[in-house]
Amino acid sequence: MTEKLYYEDAYLHEFTALVTACEAGKSGYLIELDRTAFFPEGGGQPADTGRIGEAVIRDVHEKDGRIWHHADRTLEVGETVSCAIDFEQRRRRMQNHSGEHVFSGTIHRLYGLNNVGFHMGADCMTVDFDGELSEEQLTAAETLANEAVRENLPIRVFFPEREELAKLSYRSKKELEGAVRLVEIPGVDLCACCAPHVRQTGEIGLIKLLSAERHRGGVRLELLCGLDALEDYRRRQAESGAVSRLLSVPKEKVASAVERQLEVQAGQKERIAALSLALAAKIAEAQPETDGNLVAFDELLDEIALRELTNLLMAKCRVAAVFSPSGDGGWRYIIGSRSVDLRAGARDINAGISGRGGGSPGMIQGRASADADRIRTFFEKYKSLDTSD
Ligand SMILES: [Zn+2]
Repeated sequence: MTEKLYYEDAYLHEFTALVTACEAGKSGYLIELDRTAFFPEGGGQPADTGRIGEAVIRDVHEKDGRIWHHADRTLEVGETVSCAIDFEQRRRRMQNHSGEHVFSGTIHRLYGLNNVGFHMGADCMTVDFDGELSEEQLTAAETLANEAVRENLPIRVFFPEREELAKLSYRSKKELEGAVRLVEIPGVDLCACCAPHVRQTGEIGLIKLLSAERHRGGVRLELLCGLDALEDYRRRQAESGAVSRLLSVPKEKVASAVERQLEVQAGQKERIAALSLALAAKIAEAQPETDGNLVAFDELLDEIALRELTNLLMAKCRVAAVFSPSGDGGWRYIIGSRSVDLRAGARDINAGISGRGGGSPGMIQGRASADADRIRTFFEKYKSLDTSD
Protein backbone atom coordinates (compact mmCIF):
# COMPACT_ATOMS: atom_id res chain seq x y z
CA MET A 1 0.00 0.00 0.00
CA THR A 2 1.46 3.34 -1.04
CA GLU A 3 2.03 5.85 1.75
CA LYS A 4 0.01 8.96 0.95
CA LEU A 5 2.44 11.80 1.59
CA TYR A 6 -0.05 14.36 0.25
CA TYR A 7 -2.30 13.61 3.23
CA GLU A 8 0.42 14.50 5.73
CA ASP A 9 1.92 17.49 3.94
CA ALA A 10 0.16 19.28 1.11
CA TYR A 11 3.31 21.32 0.45
CA LEU A 12 5.70 18.43 -0.08
CA HIS A 13 6.60 18.51 -3.77
CA GLU A 14 10.03 16.89 -3.96
CA PHE A 15 10.60 13.45 -2.48
CA THR A 16 12.34 10.14 -3.07
CA ALA A 17 10.51 6.83 -3.32
CA LEU A 18 10.99 3.20 -4.24
CA VAL A 19 9.43 1.86 -7.44
CA THR A 20 7.28 -1.09 -6.31
CA ALA A 21 5.56 -1.92 -9.60
CA CYS A 22 5.75 -0.98 -13.26
CA GLU A 23 3.20 -2.23 -15.79
CA ALA A 24 2.50 -1.46 -19.43
CA GLY A 25 -0.57 0.79 -19.68
CA LYS A 26 -2.80 1.83 -22.57
CA SER A 27 -0.40 4.60 -23.51
CA GLY A 28 2.91 4.40 -21.70
CA TYR A 29 3.47 2.78 -18.32
CA LEU A 30 1.81 2.62 -14.91
CA ILE A 31 4.18 3.14 -11.98
CA GLU A 32 3.51 2.35 -8.33
CA LEU A 33 5.68 3.79 -5.54
CA ASP A 34 6.07 2.91 -1.86
CA ARG A 35 5.21 6.56 -1.03
CA THR A 36 3.90 9.43 -3.10
CA ALA A 37 3.14 13.15 -2.95
CA PHE A 38 1.28 12.90 -6.27
CA PHE A 39 -2.42 13.48 -5.57
CA PRO A 40 -4.61 11.12 -7.61
CA GLU A 41 -7.71 12.93 -8.75
CA GLY A 42 -10.46 13.17 -6.15
CA GLY A 43 -12.93 15.50 -4.45
CA GLY A 44 -13.31 17.38 -7.74
CA GLN A 45 -9.59 18.15 -7.93
CA PRO A 46 -7.59 16.81 -10.90
CA ALA A 47 -4.49 14.64 -10.48
CA ASP A 48 -1.03 16.12 -10.13
CA THR A 49 1.50 16.03 -12.94
CA GLY A 50 5.27 16.03 -12.65
CA ARG A 51 8.29 13.76 -12.88
CA ILE A 52 9.40 10.42 -11.39
CA GLY A 53 13.08 9.92 -12.13
CA GLU A 54 13.37 10.53 -15.87
CA ALA A 55 9.73 9.67 -16.51
CA VAL A 56 7.16 12.38 -17.19
CA ILE A 57 3.92 11.90 -15.23
CA ARG A 58 0.80 13.19 -17.00
CA ASP A 59 -1.87 11.62 -14.78
CA VAL A 60 -2.36 9.68 -11.54
CA HIS A 61 -5.27 7.49 -10.53
CA GLU A 62 -6.25 5.36 -7.59
CA LYS A 63 -7.83 1.96 -8.18
CA ASP A 64 -8.67 -0.67 -5.55
CA GLY A 65 -6.52 1.19 -3.03
CA ARG A 66 -3.48 1.33 -5.31
CA ILE A 67 -2.09 4.57 -6.74
CA TRP A 68 -0.88 4.42 -10.33
CA HIS A 69 1.28 7.12 -11.94
CA HIS A 70 0.91 7.34 -15.74
CA ALA A 71 4.49 7.52 -17.03
CA ASP A 72 5.92 7.99 -20.52
CA ARG A 73 8.65 5.41 -19.92
CA THR A 74 9.33 2.29 -17.93
CA LEU A 75 11.16 2.32 -14.58
CA GLU A 76 13.08 -0.42 -12.82
CA VAL A 77 11.21 -2.08 -9.93
CA GLY A 78 13.34 -1.76 -6.76
CA GLU A 79 14.93 1.46 -8.00
CA THR A 80 14.97 4.51 -5.72
CA VAL A 81 13.87 7.55 -7.68
CA SER A 82 13.71 11.28 -7.02
CA CYS A 83 10.27 12.68 -7.76
CA ALA A 84 8.84 16.17 -8.22
CA ILE A 85 5.26 17.29 -8.69
CA ASP A 86 4.36 20.41 -10.67
CA PHE A 87 3.96 22.52 -7.55
CA GLU A 88 2.90 25.77 -9.22
CA GLN A 89 -0.11 23.94 -10.65
CA ARG A 90 -0.81 22.20 -7.33
CA ARG A 91 -0.65 25.45 -5.34
CA ARG A 92 -3.10 27.13 -7.69
CA ARG A 93 -5.44 24.18 -7.36
CA MET A 94 -5.14 24.32 -3.57
CA GLN A 95 -5.92 28.05 -3.65
CA ASN A 96 -8.97 27.36 -5.80
CA HIS A 97 -10.16 24.32 -3.89
CA SER A 98 -9.73 25.84 -0.41
CA GLY A 99 -11.48 28.98 -1.72
CA GLU A 100 -14.35 26.80 -2.92
CA HIS A 101 -14.68 25.30 0.59
CA VAL A 102 -14.84 28.80 2.08
CA PHE A 103 -17.46 29.87 -0.48
CA SER A 104 -19.57 26.69 -0.26
CA GLY A 105 -19.37 26.72 3.55
CA THR A 106 -20.52 30.35 3.55
CA ILE A 107 -23.46 29.62 1.22
CA HIS A 108 -24.41 26.64 3.41
CA ARG A 109 -24.20 28.70 6.60
CA LEU A 110 -26.11 31.69 5.20
CA TYR A 111 -28.79 30.03 3.10
CA GLY A 112 -28.73 26.32 4.03
CA LEU A 113 -27.99 25.21 0.47
CA ASN A 114 -25.75 22.25 -0.36
CA ASN A 115 -22.93 21.95 -2.86
CA VAL A 116 -24.17 19.06 -5.01
CA GLY A 117 -21.60 19.24 -7.81
CA PHE A 118 -18.04 20.47 -8.04
CA HIS A 119 -15.66 20.52 -10.98
CA MET A 120 -12.23 22.08 -11.42
CA GLY A 121 -11.87 22.91 -15.08
CA ALA A 122 -9.00 24.39 -17.04
CA ASP A 123 -10.53 27.89 -16.98
CA CYS A 124 -12.46 27.99 -13.71
CA MET A 125 -14.30 25.96 -11.09
CA THR A 126 -17.99 25.21 -11.34
CA VAL A 127 -20.03 24.66 -8.19
CA ASP A 128 -23.69 23.55 -8.20
CA PHE A 129 -26.09 24.32 -5.35
CA ASP A 130 -29.46 22.70 -4.72
CA GLY A 131 -31.47 25.93 -4.64
CA GLU A 132 -31.69 29.32 -6.28
CA LEU A 133 -29.72 32.34 -5.09
CA SER A 134 -30.36 35.99 -5.87
CA GLU A 135 -27.65 38.37 -7.03
CA GLU A 136 -27.76 40.11 -3.62
CA GLN A 137 -27.36 36.79 -1.78
CA LEU A 138 -24.40 35.84 -3.97
CA THR A 139 -22.72 39.22 -3.51
CA ALA A 140 -23.20 38.95 0.27
CA ALA A 141 -21.67 35.44 0.26
CA GLU A 142 -18.74 36.56 -1.89
CA THR A 143 -18.00 39.41 0.50
CA LEU A 144 -18.20 37.17 3.58
CA ALA A 145 -15.99 34.54 1.91
CA ASN A 146 -13.34 37.19 1.28
CA GLU A 147 -13.69 38.35 4.90
CA ALA A 148 -12.70 34.80 5.91
CA VAL A 149 -9.58 35.18 3.74
CA ARG A 150 -8.75 38.46 5.46
CA GLU A 151 -9.10 36.75 8.86
CA ASN A 152 -6.34 34.34 7.74
CA LEU A 153 -7.98 31.39 9.52
CA PRO A 154 -6.15 28.08 10.00
CA ILE A 155 -7.33 25.19 7.82
CA ARG A 156 -7.23 21.93 9.78
CA VAL A 157 -7.35 18.48 8.21
CA PHE A 158 -8.15 15.53 10.50
CA PHE A 159 -9.54 12.02 10.65
CA PRO A 160 -11.99 11.97 13.61
CA GLU A 161 -12.78 8.79 15.54
CA ARG A 162 -16.12 7.20 14.76
CA GLU A 163 -17.82 8.53 17.95
CA GLU A 164 -16.49 12.05 17.44
CA LEU A 165 -17.55 11.95 13.78
CA ALA A 166 -21.10 10.98 14.75
CA LYS A 167 -21.41 14.17 16.82
CA LEU A 168 -20.11 16.43 14.07
CA SER A 169 -22.23 18.18 11.48
CA TYR A 170 -20.23 18.39 8.28
CA ARG A 171 -20.85 18.89 4.56
CA SER A 172 -20.51 15.78 2.41
CA LYS A 173 -21.71 14.87 -1.09
CA LYS A 174 -22.10 11.15 -0.39
CA GLU A 175 -22.24 8.56 2.38
CA LEU A 176 -18.63 7.79 3.28
CA GLU A 177 -17.19 4.47 4.33
CA GLY A 178 -14.06 3.95 6.41
CA ALA A 179 -12.04 6.81 7.88
CA VAL A 180 -13.53 10.19 7.02
CA ARG A 181 -11.10 13.01 6.28
CA LEU A 182 -12.51 16.34 7.39
CA VAL A 183 -11.33 19.80 6.37
CA GLU A 184 -12.19 22.41 8.96
CA ILE A 185 -12.15 26.18 8.63
CA PRO A 186 -13.28 27.43 12.05
CA GLY A 187 -16.56 29.35 11.97
CA VAL A 188 -16.74 28.94 8.19
CA ASP A 189 -16.88 25.32 7.09
CA LEU A 190 -16.51 21.66 7.99
CA CYS A 191 -16.43 19.38 4.99
CA ALA A 192 -15.41 15.82 4.10
CA CYS A 193 -12.74 16.05 1.40
CA CYS A 194 -9.75 13.98 0.25
CA ALA A 195 -7.87 16.73 -1.57
CA PRO A 196 -4.85 18.76 -0.42
CA HIS A 197 -5.58 22.25 0.92
CA VAL A 198 -3.65 25.39 1.88
CA ARG A 199 -2.71 25.89 5.57
CA GLN A 200 -4.35 29.27 6.15
CA THR A 201 -7.22 31.03 4.40
CA GLY A 202 -4.94 34.02 3.76
CA GLU A 203 -3.08 31.92 1.18
CA ILE A 204 -6.23 31.61 -0.92
CA GLY A 205 -6.12 35.26 -1.97
CA LEU A 206 -9.09 36.64 -3.85
CA ILE A 207 -12.27 34.52 -4.02
CA LYS A 208 -14.18 35.71 -7.09
CA LEU A 209 -17.58 34.69 -8.36
CA LEU A 210 -17.55 34.92 -12.16
CA SER A 211 -21.07 33.91 -13.11
CA ALA A 212 -24.29 32.28 -11.90
CA GLU A 213 -26.94 30.53 -13.94
CA ARG A 214 -29.95 28.36 -13.24
CA HIS A 215 -29.13 24.67 -13.27
CA ARG A 216 -31.39 21.68 -12.48
CA GLY A 217 -33.63 23.53 -10.08
CA GLY A 218 -30.64 25.16 -8.41
CA VAL A 219 -27.77 27.33 -9.47
CA ARG A 220 -24.40 26.71 -11.14
CA LEU A 221 -21.64 29.12 -10.16
CA GLU A 222 -18.29 29.76 -11.79
CA LEU A 223 -15.53 30.67 -9.33
CA LEU A 224 -11.86 31.54 -9.44
CA CYS A 225 -9.42 32.07 -6.58
CA GLY A 226 -5.86 33.20 -5.97
CA LEU A 227 -3.40 33.77 -8.81
CA ASP A 228 -5.86 32.33 -11.32
CA ALA A 229 -8.33 35.05 -10.27
CA LEU A 230 -5.62 37.69 -10.62
CA GLU A 231 -4.80 36.54 -14.15
CA ASP A 232 -8.48 36.47 -15.02
CA TYR A 233 -8.74 40.06 -13.72
CA ARG A 234 -5.83 41.06 -15.99
CA ARG A 235 -7.47 39.48 -19.04
CA ARG A 236 -10.73 41.27 -18.32
CA GLN A 237 -8.90 44.54 -17.76
CA ALA A 238 -7.10 44.17 -21.10
CA GLU A 239 -10.40 43.38 -22.80
CA SER A 240 -12.29 46.33 -21.32
CA GLY A 241 -9.24 48.54 -22.03
CA ALA A 242 -9.35 47.54 -25.69
CA VAL A 243 -13.10 48.28 -25.89
CA SER A 244 -12.66 51.65 -24.18
CA ARG A 245 -9.91 52.63 -26.64
CA LEU A 246 -12.04 51.51 -29.61
CA LEU A 247 -14.98 53.59 -28.35
CA SER A 248 -12.80 56.45 -27.06
CA VAL A 249 -14.54 56.46 -23.68
CA PRO A 250 -13.26 55.78 -20.13
CA LYS A 251 -13.34 52.12 -19.05
CA GLU A 252 -16.14 52.78 -16.55
CA LYS A 253 -18.41 54.04 -19.34
CA VAL A 254 -18.06 51.35 -21.99
CA ALA A 255 -21.50 49.80 -21.34
CA SER A 256 -23.42 53.04 -21.93
CA ALA A 257 -21.19 53.81 -24.93
CA VAL A 258 -21.97 50.41 -26.48
CA GLU A 259 -25.66 50.99 -25.81
CA ARG A 260 -25.44 54.32 -27.67
CA GLN A 261 -23.62 52.63 -30.57
CA LEU A 262 -26.34 49.99 -30.82
CA GLU A 263 -29.02 52.71 -30.94
CA VAL A 264 -27.13 54.49 -33.72
CA GLN A 265 -26.78 51.18 -35.55
CA ALA A 266 -30.51 50.44 -35.28
CA GLY A 267 -31.28 53.88 -36.77
CA GLN A 268 -28.77 53.28 -39.57
CA LYS A 269 -30.34 49.92 -40.38
CA GLU A 270 -33.74 51.54 -40.81
CA ARG A 271 -32.24 54.24 -43.01
CA ILE A 272 -30.36 51.72 -45.15
CA ALA A 273 -33.56 49.72 -45.62
CA ALA A 274 -35.45 52.84 -46.75
CA LEU A 275 -32.60 53.95 -49.06
CA SER A 276 -32.37 50.45 -50.54
CA LEU A 277 -36.06 50.43 -51.43
CA ALA A 278 -35.84 53.94 -52.92
CA LEU A 279 -32.82 52.91 -55.01
CA ALA A 280 -34.59 49.75 -56.19
CA ALA A 281 -37.47 51.93 -57.44
CA LYS A 282 -35.00 54.22 -59.30
CA ILE A 283 -33.22 51.28 -60.94
CA ALA A 284 -36.54 49.77 -62.05
CA GLU A 285 -37.75 53.15 -63.37
CA ALA A 286 -34.67 53.46 -65.58
CA GLN A 287 -35.38 50.13 -67.31
CA PRO A 288 -37.56 50.15 -70.45
CA GLU A 289 -40.70 48.07 -70.82
CA THR A 290 -39.96 45.15 -73.11
CA ASP A 291 -41.36 41.93 -74.56
CA GLY A 292 -38.01 40.32 -73.81
CA ASN A 293 -36.15 39.78 -70.52
CA LEU A 294 -34.48 42.25 -68.15
CA VAL A 295 -31.23 41.62 -66.26
CA ALA A 296 -29.88 43.80 -63.45
CA PHE A 297 -26.64 43.57 -61.49
CA ASP A 298 -26.49 45.36 -58.17
CA GLU A 299 -23.99 45.64 -55.31
CA LEU A 300 -25.81 47.98 -52.96
CA LEU A 301 -29.34 46.76 -52.31
CA ASP A 302 -30.25 44.72 -49.25
CA GLU A 303 -32.17 41.45 -49.40
CA ILE A 304 -35.65 42.98 -49.23
CA ALA A 305 -34.85 45.63 -51.85
CA LEU A 306 -33.40 43.01 -54.25
CA ARG A 307 -36.70 41.17 -54.07
CA GLU A 308 -38.60 44.44 -54.54
CA LEU A 309 -36.45 45.24 -57.60
CA THR A 310 -37.28 41.84 -59.06
CA ASN A 311 -41.01 42.48 -58.49
CA LEU A 312 -40.83 45.92 -60.11
CA LEU A 313 -38.91 44.62 -63.16
CA MET A 314 -41.27 41.64 -63.55
CA ALA A 315 -44.05 44.11 -64.33
CA LYS A 316 -42.06 45.45 -67.29
CA CYS A 317 -40.86 42.27 -69.05
CA ARG A 318 -41.14 38.49 -69.45
CA VAL A 319 -38.36 37.31 -67.16
CA ALA A 320 -36.62 39.63 -64.69
CA ALA A 321 -33.25 38.44 -63.36
CA VAL A 322 -31.50 40.31 -60.54
CA PHE A 323 -27.92 39.44 -59.55
CA SER A 324 -25.91 40.57 -56.52
CA PRO A 325 -22.36 39.54 -55.53
CA SER A 326 -22.31 36.45 -53.30
CA GLY A 327 -18.97 37.34 -51.72
CA ASP A 328 -17.10 34.35 -53.17
CA GLY A 329 -16.66 35.73 -56.69
CA GLY A 330 -20.07 34.53 -57.88
CA TRP A 331 -23.62 35.80 -57.69
CA ARG A 332 -26.79 35.33 -55.77
CA TYR A 333 -29.83 35.58 -57.98
CA ILE A 334 -33.55 36.24 -57.78
CA ILE A 335 -35.43 35.57 -61.02
CA GLY A 336 -39.12 36.35 -61.39
CA SER A 337 -41.78 36.19 -64.09
CA ARG A 338 -45.52 36.65 -64.48
CA SER A 339 -45.77 34.66 -67.70
CA VAL A 340 -43.06 32.00 -67.64
CA ASP A 341 -43.11 28.93 -65.37
CA LEU A 342 -39.69 29.36 -63.80
CA ARG A 343 -39.85 26.21 -61.75
CA ALA A 344 -40.15 24.29 -65.01
CA GLY A 345 -37.42 26.43 -66.59
CA ALA A 346 -35.02 26.35 -63.64
CA ARG A 347 -32.94 23.50 -65.04
CA ASP A 348 -32.27 25.34 -68.36
CA ILE A 349 -31.63 28.64 -66.62
CA ASN A 350 -29.19 27.13 -64.10
CA ALA A 351 -27.39 25.31 -66.93
CA GLY A 352 -27.11 28.58 -68.86
CA ILE A 353 -25.66 30.64 -66.02
CA SER A 354 -23.70 27.90 -64.16
CA GLY A 355 -26.08 28.13 -61.27
CA ARG A 356 -28.14 26.15 -58.85
CA GLY A 357 -31.35 27.00 -57.12
CA GLY A 358 -35.10 26.77 -57.42
CA GLY A 359 -38.39 28.00 -56.08
CA SER A 360 -41.95 28.58 -57.24
CA PRO A 361 -43.35 28.99 -60.79
CA GLY A 362 -43.27 32.78 -60.29
CA MET A 363 -39.86 33.15 -58.65
CA ILE A 364 -36.65 31.17 -58.25
CA GLN A 365 -33.58 31.97 -56.15
CA GLY A 366 -30.08 30.58 -56.05
CA ARG A 367 -26.45 31.09 -56.86
CA ALA A 368 -24.56 31.40 -60.16
CA SER A 369 -20.91 31.50 -61.13
CA ALA A 370 -21.02 32.56 -64.82
CA ASP A 371 -19.58 36.00 -65.58
CA ALA A 372 -21.85 39.00 -66.15
CA ASP A 373 -21.45 38.98 -69.97
CA ARG A 374 -22.44 35.35 -70.24
CA ILE A 375 -25.44 35.93 -67.99
CA ARG A 376 -26.56 38.92 -70.10
CA THR A 377 -26.15 36.95 -73.35
CA PHE A 378 -28.08 34.03 -71.91
CA PHE A 379 -31.07 36.17 -70.94
CA GLU A 380 -31.04 38.05 -74.27
CA LYS A 381 -31.73 34.72 -75.95
CA TYR A 382 -33.67 32.91 -73.25
CA LYS A 383 -37.15 31.96 -74.37
CA SER A 384 -39.09 29.28 -72.60
CA LEU A 385 -41.56 27.20 -74.59
CA ASP A 386 -43.76 27.26 -71.55
CA THR A 387 -45.12 30.78 -71.92
CA SER A 388 -48.62 32.11 -72.03
CA ASP A 389 -47.97 34.03 -75.29
ZN1 LIG B 1 -13.06 19.59 -1.26
